[in-house]
Amino acid sequence: MRIDLHTHSRASDGTQTPTELVGAAVAAGLDVLALTDHDTTDGWAEAAEAAERQGLELVRGMELSTRHQDHGVHLLAYLPDPTYPPLVEELDRVLAGRRGRVPTMIARLRELGIGIDEEDVRRAAAGTAATGRPHVADALVARGVVADRTEAFDRFLGWGRPAHVDRYAAPLVDVIRHVAAAGGVTVVAHPWGRSSRRRPDEQDLAQLQEIGLAGIEVDHQDHDEPTRAELRAIARNLGLVVTGSSDHHGAGKLDHDLGVNTTAPEEYHRLLDLAAAASAASGRRTPEVVRP
Ligand code: AMP
Ligand code: FE
Ligand code: FE
Ligand code: ZN
Repeated sequence: MRIDLHTHSRASDGTQTPTELVGAAVAAGLDVLALTDHDTTDGWAEAAEAAERQGLELVRGMELSTRHQDHGVHLLAYLPDPTYPPLVEELDRVLAGRRGRVPTMIARLRELGIGIDEEDVRRAAAGTAATGRPHVADALVARGVVADRTEAFDRFLGWGRPAHVDRYAAPLVDVIRHVAAAGGVTVVAHPWGRSSRRRPDEQDLAQLQEIGLAGIEVDHQDHDEPTRAELRAIARNLGLVVTGSSDHHGAGKLDHDLGVNTTAPEEYHRLLDLAAAASAASGRRTPEVVRP
């Protein structure tokens, strides 16, 4: 069983439609795929339909933009009721923050003599609710300013670069509680990844586990082998679920091919058991895993 629990579609900053993503997952020999777009469930319906048609097991999820002790944390949330009001309210705030910073990024680029406008970004974002820096990067590519997203982040959009603009992110502790109350489970994405400027240690993770965190993403391209070994040991000590995933973005991110990292079946089943328990305790109507 090949299981990939972290991927993006055009509903956020991936470059494939949910249908194309599901097709690519089947072609890559995956048995289970989770769709985890940034801060939106907009891709869920199309992905579920495609998965049913193409015979793929699909887990509906999200990657939520959160903040903890003044640092950004990406939190994977699986199988929550997407209509749970406190969760919807937090997502609305995050999405408003994403929209709101686009004009500021454009103004910064203008100061550098680069003339892209909101229409360019809108075109690149292709209807997503979760407009992000990758779409600004795509607009820069379309204008011939840079060759690819990587160059756009390196020169303009990455942390400390001249067009980097912060945005609202939801309080991590609140979001872990909201997802649990919505009948879902949470996993910290790439906890010691490139963008994590503060690495949560064992004690931090134990505290998050106490309020409901189910697992950590250990096998991720941002983690080298020693990092993975250390994180795996922490997960074993604490009894956290260990996941592995590609964080695939279609053509939007190099070295993140589908299935490049995978989750062990027994860890996946532990995660589903925790989700089933959270669902039962919540009394919410949670999405089923799509099973062919
Ligand atoms: P945002 O959420 O809008 O702040 O943008 C962050 C997203 O940009 C991340 O989730 C990544 O998917 C993407 N990203 C970050 N760095 C790079 C990079 N160097 N090349 C391509 N995509 C990147
Ligand atoms: Fe992304
Ligand atoms: Fe992430
Ligand atoms: Zn991701």
